[in-house]
Amino acid sequence: MRLKSLMSIGLALAVVLTGCSKSGGSKIKIGLSLDTLKEERWQHDRDLFVAKAKELGADVLVQAANNDDTLQNSQAENLLTEGVNVLVVVPHNGKSAATIVASAHKAGVPVIAYDRLINDSDVDLYVTLDPVNVGVQQAEYAVKHQPKGNYVLIAGAPTDNNAALVRQGQMSVLKPYVDRGDIKIVADQWAKDWSPVEALKIMENALTKNNNAVDAVVVSNDGMAGGVIQALSEQKLAGKVLVTGQDADLAACQRIVQGTQSMTVYKPLNLLANKAAEVAVLLAQKKPITDPTSKLNNGKIDVPSILLKTTPVDKSNLDSTVIADGFQKKEDVYKK
Ligand code: BGC
Repeated sequence: MRLKSLMSIGLALAVVLTGCSKSGGSKIKIGLSLDTLKEERWQHDRDLFVAKAKELGADVLVQAANNDDTLQNSQAENLLTEGVNVLVVVPHNGKSAATIVASAHKAGVPVIAYDRLINDSDVDLYVTLDPVNVGVQQAEYAVKHQPKGNYVLIAGAPTDNNAALVRQGQMSVLKPYVDRGDIKIVADQWAKDWSPVEALKIMENALTKNNNAVDAVVVSNDGMAGGVIQALSEQKLAGKVLVTGQDADLAACQRIVQGTQSMTVYKPLNLLANKAAEVAVLLAQKKPITDPTSKLNNGKIDVPSILLKTTPVDKSNLDSTVIADGFQKKEDVYKK
């Protein structure tokens, strides 16, 4: 009996000790709440973030919510119960995730919005690859190569603030062309949850409605570009119509090489994940963030935001950007 209790004390002590950092304070625990792992990029985000956090001496608990708001909220509650010191959230729904921020703050836990902003909340920090600029880069590419004609616009999830920011960037470039009458927007739709299948349907309808007279499709990400290009292929138009994207997914890079997708926007996820892990550790330690921040209004407050840069990529610079950085492997991209 005695021995048993001594052993359990020893065990408890061992647990406490392994939970301690070298400096003697307890080890930082970060909760990472992801909307989805569906698009290829989020798996990289997760892996890069966890690796950087580990390097900085923190542990990460990861949850992914499969595009389900209720699930994401309960997963975040669980992370708080687990005693995380800081919560990093990629919200499925930029509005309902405000509940997560409120719960976290009640527990004294700061929240970082990762890649996507959390609206109408007191979120502590936003770290992203500037989504407005992603839209600008897509539209600038489009007007440079197709300055006139019929345009189809396909935006992302109406529940994702990024979809709106990307669209804002696109329109800032397209508007003067539309106002002059050089560009005619013949279809303009948003796809639930950035769904490639929905993008395919939107594109099929747009082609039917316009007797296939479409010159460019400003698509907000690569997943949806895949659906759009499938619809174009059905009409033997793939490669003849300009198509944009974002993320530099492997499939998109392959389509760029094959000539069916015109461009993508390369987002260096290592910069985003590393920066987010660094600031998460600082916030958990209640230390100040020294990065230059912009202010982005989320409907409630001006959120201090770190906006990182992206690069437009087509056939001409795929090798010197996405491949040179090791973001995609050359043998994969050029695989026949
Ligand atoms: C991200 C994109 C991604 C999309 C769909 C957006 O919020 O910024 O990179 O393709 O969500 O997951």
